[in-house]
Amino acid sequence: MLGPGLHARKGMSPIVALKKWQTYAIPRCLYGIEIMNYTKTDILKLERLQQQVCRQIQGLPTRTANAATYVMLGAQEIMNSKPTEEIWKRPVKKAINMHWEKQWLSEKENKTTMQYLDINQQPIRKPHQIWQLVPYTTIEVKKADIKARLITRTYTLQSDREKFTRGRESDKCLLCETSREDTHHFLITCTAFKMERDKHLSVLKSYLKNNTPVGTFDRVEEQGLLVLFILNSSFYSS
Ligand SMILES: [Zn+2]
Repeated sequence: MLGPGLHARKGMSPIVALKKWQTYAIPRCLYGIEIMNYTKTDILKLERLQQQVCRQIQGLPTRTANAATYVMLGAQEIMNSKPTEEIWKRPVKKAINMHWEKQWLSEKENKTTMQYLDINQQPIRKPHQIWQLVPYTTIEVKKADIKARLITRTYTLQSDREKFTRGRESDKCLLCETSREDTHHFLITCTAFKMERDKHLSVLKSYLKNNTPVGTFDRVEEQGLLVLFILNSSFYSS
């Protein structure tokens, strides 16, 4: 069911794919769990499987942080999503919530890949706006896929290549050949994209001018928050 074609890079909306996973696959995995003697290892295996599926349907690589994988989709750990036996469920739910909160806090502290995600609040059960707002058309989902990789810091740029190859490859941008290619350079300063970028930034600027308090765009620009604003535009309202 969740074959190789079911992911964002092929144009399938991750929200639809997640729904299929939650509706068809999870109940099968967890069938009869209330009366079965599941070990910690079994749960861990299920959890890993779900992490893998959540990454796959978003077209994200395996190095994506766990919390980032879940928060992008608005999914939560597998054991928080089912069984129905109330007596069993309540204490487990509490424990899972505590575990999730701990994991979220620790990942946001320690992982540089989380810097562009909205980290002011812990994940709630709704997908990130990148997946939530994307129309269900192949081209739009493919565009959102690039944004999802940029926001989770898994879109491979030259600075990543330099890190992965321990310096064998240069971190210099291959397009303008002047500076280190990181997310900021790629989105904001690379001269090779200037013409294209200016077109979009002027639209964004005039939209903000008409819909937000005076000077919002300038303040964002001055404070070096443009990358965050482009990838995660709701941050400014929070
Ligand atoms: Zn460049």
